[in-house]
Amino acid sequence: MYYFFCSVKGTEYTNYKGVVVPAKSMGTACNCKLKCFKNISDNQQMEAYTKFYNLSTKDEQDLYLQGLIHFKPVQQRRSLAQSREEYVRNSTFIYYIIVDSQRNKVCKKAFLNFHFLSNKRLQRLQQLLPSGTTPKDKRGKQVSANTILATEKIRIHEHTTPLDHISLPQFRSDSENYVSTKLS
Ligand SMILES: [Zn+2]
Repeated sequence: MYYFFCSVKGTEYTNYKGVVVPAKSMGTACNCKLKCFKNISDNQQMEAYTKFYNLSTKDEQDLYLQGLIHFKPVQQRRSLAQSREEYVRNSTFIYYIIVDSQRNKVCKKAFLNFHFLSNKRLQRLQQLLPSGTTPKDKRGKQVSANTILATEKIRIHEHTTPLDHISLPQFRSDSENYVSTKLS
């Protein structure tokens, strides 16, 4: 299930909370101007990863990750026939990790690396973000206290950052086209 644990055997270890931490084997540090790997200490990276990993199910983890990705739709909508894939590809995503209970902006590489995510899993989440759905629609189902805690925390910090007044497109379930609707 946790297929991103693909580190070389013998290099992962278990931290004080009993969380198995995979080895840092996902490549070199980023070159972005945020200097994520320099500005976020190993301990903070560990904290972010532990918080993520402690969520008991993959759905909760996905929900948590979605809360850490800010979706900025592409401004010009050239054609309503534009596919969701194309639309997502042209849009901007801003990534955050939770450090000391605060959201810290990081680049995509750091986001993947700090959470030990595969690019494939992230792409799947990105495809779902515009329609506001989680990988597995959990409406009406019980969500664990852990998830609520994580998402509440994110929502609180959301209020402290300026909101983008943008309209999110709504994907119709019957087609890959979208119609633009203004979120209130
Ligand atoms: Zn970076």
